[in-house]
Amino acid sequence: MHPALTDDQLAHLVALRHNLHETPEVSGQEHGTAERILQELLRAEADEIWTDLGEHGIAASFDGTADGPTVMIRCELDALPIQEVSGLPYRSKTDGKAHLCGHDGHMAMVLGLGLALAKRPARGRVILLFQPAEETGAGAAAVIADPRWAEIQPDYAFAFHNVPGHPFGQIGLRKGPANCASRGMKISFQGRTSHAAAPENGVSPASVMASLMQTLPTLGGAQTPHSDIALATLTHVSLGEPSFGIAPGVGEMRITLRSQSDTRMEQMIADAKDLLAHSLQHDPRLAADLTWHEVFLATTNDADAIDIAADAAGKLGLDSDSMTSPMRWSEDFGRFGIDGAKAALLFLGSGKEHPQLHNPNYDFPDALIPIGVSLFVEIIDQILCQPAPAIAPANG
Ligand SMILES: [Zn+2]
Ligand SMILES: [Zn+2]
Repeated sequence: MHPALTDDQLAHLVALRHNLHETPEVSGQEHGTAERILQELLRAEADEIWTDLGEHGIAASFDGTADGPTVMIRCELDALPIQEVSGLPYRSKTDGKAHLCGHDGHMAMVLGLGLALAKRPARGRVILLFQPAEETGAGAAAVIADPRWAEIQPDYAFAFHNVPGHPFGQIGLRKGPANCASRGMKISFQGRTSHAAAPENGVSPASVMASLMQTLPTLGGAQTPHSDIALATLTHVSLGEPSFGIAPGVGEMRITLRSQSDTRMEQMIADAKDLLAHSLQHDPRLAADLTWHEVFLATTNDADAIDIAADAAGKLGLDSDSMTSPMRWSEDFGRFGIDGAKAALLFLGSGKEHPQLHNPNYDFPDALIPIGVSLFVEIIDQILCQPAPAIAPANG
């Protein structure tokens, strides 16, 4: 593999990654991270920079001399509200917050591409997007809703997510469904408390909640290794107060719905509403309020974009895998494909034994940085630097 960066540049990216790791900021609060990225993009002499996109997002363009398509490479700014447990010299300095999804490493790879783009593409332009608030599912939608998005709107969009449990450095290439749609369903029940000695005077949500705890998780139907993913996972339940003298008057349930397509999700939403309405018929005195949270659409990879990435991986001699099934977790990157780009989320193996994403001892493997940068550089080369298709001469 021909190195896309010098040893000094790689050392700079690793140091930067460690610094980002030490100073995590969670979704929607990425001020300091965005400022740090801005300084790096100014040093890389980007042709144009957009700040405060969808709150803290930041984008930079590197322009070719001839007209051509816009290729966007996206990474994420945000960390997680989880306490890191590690002995790393660069562990998080902020209690309860840490980069445990590897977004610090994703940023380092995209900045590495920015350094390599000192040599501009022959045509078109490359946009580097540092997107806020991926973990809550709000960031990509907010960036696309920004009025300045019209100046950026790409023809192609690519991103990497590192994946523990996959062989180190292996490129995962999946056409079609790549990540699931998911959304949090919160049901708040309102009845009436009473003395525990006279529960008949109150309205307890207990029996309606008990029945929904049985029925809601069956919404996805039976899951087999070959069926499309459709899951409803009960994540939290609370009922009344931790006491012995009060019969409960309130309760709350949280369920996460997950499916590999947006159409299947629509069906699960309709079925969930039906189950709730049906169960409430048993006690008309009980009220329930249904709200949705952390809404992620499905990420569906464009076949042409995956072919380009596969060619690039092949040219670099990288190990790659055409994955047989999508990831169960969600990614808001899918919004860029729905917005019209030929978009592909690529997976980068973090090692079979590597701690899983969002685990307190997870840390992005620095040795992935040069692999990711090289693949990005090669993808840009395939789309913007190969000779343009010849224009057929006019007749006569
Ligand atoms: Zn994450
Ligand atoms: Zn992530």
